[in-house]
Amino acid sequence: MFDKVLIANRGEIALRIQRACRELGVKTVAVYSEPDADARYVRLADDAICIGPASPGQSYLNAAALLFAAHVSGAEAVHPGYGFLSENADFATAVEAAGLTFIGPAPQSIRAMGDKVAAKRAMRAAGVPCVPGPDGSLPDDPDAIMRIADEIGFPVIVKAAGGGGGRGMRVVREPAQLFDAVSVTREEARRAFGKPELYIEKFLEHPRHVEIQVLCDTHGTSLWLGSRDCSLQRRHQKVLEEAPAPGIDPELIREAGERCADACRQIGYRGAGTFEFLFEDGRFYFIEMNTRLQVEHPVTEMTSGIDIVREQIRIAQGHALTVSQRDIRTRGHALECRINAEDPFSFVPCPGRIDTWELPGGNGVRVDSHMSCGSVVPPYYDSLIAKVITHGDTRREALERMRGALSELRIGGIRTNVPLHRAMLGDPGFEVGGVDIHHLERWLEQRKQNDADH
Ligand code: ADP
Repeated sequence: MFDKVLIANRGEIALRIQRACRELGVKTVAVYSEPDADARYVRLADDAICIGPASPGQSYLNAAALLFAAHVSGAEAVHPGYGFLSENADFATAVEAAGLTFIGPAPQSIRAMGDKVAAKRAMRAAGVPCVPGPDGSLPDDPDAIMRIADEIGFPVIVKAAGGGGGRGMRVVREPAQLFDAVSVTREEARRAFGKPELYIEKFLEHPRHVEIQVLCDTHGTSLWLGSRDCSLQRRHQKVLEEAPAPGIDPELIREAGERCADACRQIGYRGAGTFEFLFEDGRFYFIEMNTRLQVEHPVTEMTSGIDIVREQIRIAQGHALTVSQRDIRTRGHALECRINAEDPFSFVPCPGRIDTWELPGGNGVRVDSHMSCGSVVPPYYDSLIAKVITHGDTRREALERMRGALSELRIGGIRTNVPLHRAMLGDPGFEVGGVDIHHLERWLEQRKQNDADH
């Protein structure tokens, strides 16, 4: 049992975690870099400690500073949030070695799933359907590489085992491009991830991104909490998410969900996690598992009625989950718009001081944000300033509520991507539901064309 948690993160998620702690009667320690000193979650925490200058390497990624802050504040556990050190197995190990509880999976689970080749092998062994392709890494021998690609059939995608954030991937449409793609990706993997290992799989042409949220305690219970669709992406970054994934036979989703929960039991997984799939022509293909809380977790909270962060903390305290799979239902539909401080046309980050801040409200509207009028968006970190989440009995109702919410939302002083969200909500393809992962980029391309024509 612990009564004080250090939140090793910043921004909206730092506040989100703080709220869950407060509900559980757990005290919080906020850590902050110098430019974040005036942030709302710093003021609202029971304790706050400066851990360094703006540069993430010297603050939010500085394990020694975080552990020192935990020590001096008397925190007994660390919640890593998402991003930063949340999927760093060495950090989780260091937290445990310092006698603290890491609110997340065991370090060996983080390490195993962080290697995409190992993850795919483990998932295939556990009966989770994967993208066609071998579950070993690529050999050096060119003939052997070509044989593997031929067997899968072109187009294929070459991926770095240690890749992440949409980097370290290359699509290969014809045999003649294969060796160049392999050598460029290998070099990139070596430089960016410190690991040259590559693998290759079938490139799916028009998949959707559908994921399954899981929650596992240390008493042998593994639950899946429904599906999310995160197909609206730009440069592999999610923009707008929803739960459940629209238009997919619930029976198919249940099958995939049960496979995921089974896999968690087999690998002895603990805490919250997400299985990411590509979904094409009625089939699920596993691509990777995220061993942490996701930005888009609120849409699942709205449809399942389960507070995922609260459960993460309870699981870390050794409590058993109080619900069983039978109790979990998908109620209605939820959407989430990620509001970023960026130009809605060029997508250049747009830090600065917010001088107008009017938030929407009403039935089925939730806003997760650490900002207020007068807040400064610093230029050093990612540009997410708010998540607007709506819930309704049906997808149509959730959409209608989102349109209403975004028409009430007013943010001034900086530019945001709100206009892009408004446009997307009026897009006929999105309105029907079930668009593929290229939909948003196609739409942006079309907008550019239209602008050029006028
Ligand atoms: P990352 O960890 O960098 O996010 P992922 O393996 O999750 O890498 O892939 C990121 C994105 O790349 C996916 O959401 C999808 O858009 C695309 N992608 C990955 N693998 C394939 C594939 N086999 N076929 C088609 N697109 C893919």
